[in-house]
Amino acid sequence: MSNKPVKLETLLSFLRAAIDHFPDQRTGNNTTYSMQDIGMAAFSVFYTQNPSFLAHQKAMRQRTGRDNTQTIFGIQQIPSDNHIRDMLDPVAPSYLSQVFDNVFETLKTQNLLSPMLWYRDNLAMAFDGTYHFSSKKIHCPNCSTTMRKDGSVTYHHSAITPVIVNPAHNVAISLAPEFVVPQDGSDKQDCETNAAKRWLEKHGDKFRKIAVTILGDDLYCRQPMCRLVLSKGFNFLFVCKPDSHKSLYRWVELLEQHGDLNQFVITRWNGKQREIYTYKYANDVPLRDTEDALTVNWMELTISKEDGQVLYKNAFATNFKITDHNVEILVAGGRSRWKVENENNNTLKTKGYNLEHNYGHGKQHLSSLLVAFNLLAFLFHTVLEWTDQDYQRLRKILPSRKTFFDDLRALTRYICFDSWQHLLDFMLKGLTRAAPG
Ligand SMILES: [Zn+2]
Repeated sequence: MSNKPVKLETLLSFLRAAIDHFPDQRTGNNTTYSMQDIGMAAFSVFYTQNPSFLAHQKAMRQRTGRDNTQTIFGIQQIPSDNHIRDMLDPVAPSYLSQVFDNVFETLKTQNLLSPMLWYRDNLAMAFDGTYHFSSKKIHCPNCSTTMRKDGSVTYHHSAITPVIVNPAHNVAISLAPEFVVPQDGSDKQDCETNAAKRWLEKHGDKFRKIAVTILGDDLYCRQPMCRLVLSKGFNFLFVCKPDSHKSLYRWVELLEQHGDLNQFVITRWNGKQREIYTYKYANDVPLRDTEDALTVNWMELTISKEDGQVLYKNAFATNFKITDHNVEILVAGGRSRWKVENENNNTLKTKGYNLEHNYGHGKQHLSSLLVAFNLLAFLFHTVLEWTDQDYQRLRKILPSRKTFFDDLRALTRYICFDSWQHLLDFMLKGLTRAAPG
């Protein structure tokens, strides 16, 4: 994995190229800070996961004449939070899409994605929605709204955040997000499914030359979405729940009654106890109760203890023909979708700094743009951990995210490093110094 490390400098150069295209709002004597400094300053706060990063670096520069924004991120002059907010609010998050594309292309051309290839060399792209803002007071024209029964309104922002996952790896590689925002010319509110459809229309053709399987929850398991995915040359593997697929489950029931439902059982030892895995599947069942219904292939996994207690049960629909030989790997792929919720989005929600308190909500795109910066920051850390031996060694010694970022915050406050590599070397040296004797 580590023969061709991707360096932070390369990743930052992608970001610089994207910032070059940001709409420039600076006027008159407001041009002290370049758009590069403004964009990179916002990013640096997410990359270091430190809301006080810029304040600390400003203080360091006053004391010593240099600081880490300069040496690591190439920032000439550190703008204020207010200025960052004003200049970035008009920038749509789509200006950062190219950076996600560049990272993907780099991983692909350097053959660093091959360990992520899943069934039949497919890349499994998991789609999931996440809310990143909710308030009863603060809002902007791009907020979605929910009317409560008592007449009060809640404002929120959400996005779909596709990631490449693989059941065998504990890593999620982010692709460009698509934000749920009121769309021009539509009086209906936007929703996650529409955002996913827009993502497929905008980005689908970029992946035409590779095999792709889209993973998603039950919300996605509808005929229009399945057809759109197939029209892009992709495969699908979606959660398929009985409540929302009544006619499909009637078919399954009939097949079972006639003994035509495929089934096989294996027992696994989980280290503590035996678990019984019961797979059931059926090919060519109609997805819905209409003449033009798409036929899909359905499978279900139930995991139970020997005493019959059910530990897990879920079912999926896919366009892959299911056999005794592939049902396990297909179900494992469907289950790996949860990695998105477990890792990427949870990290965003609980571990990523919500920087609204630094910058406010903005009037146009700020809220979404900052989320895109945060996703990029996570992607950069993921790629470094995936490809750079030094970073890997360091994270082996500091496996806890919290410790890693705590150390990063403290060290960058007190010491000016010549580069990111210098910082990594410093930490590795400090942590691996040979024990006395
Ligand atoms: Zn808003």
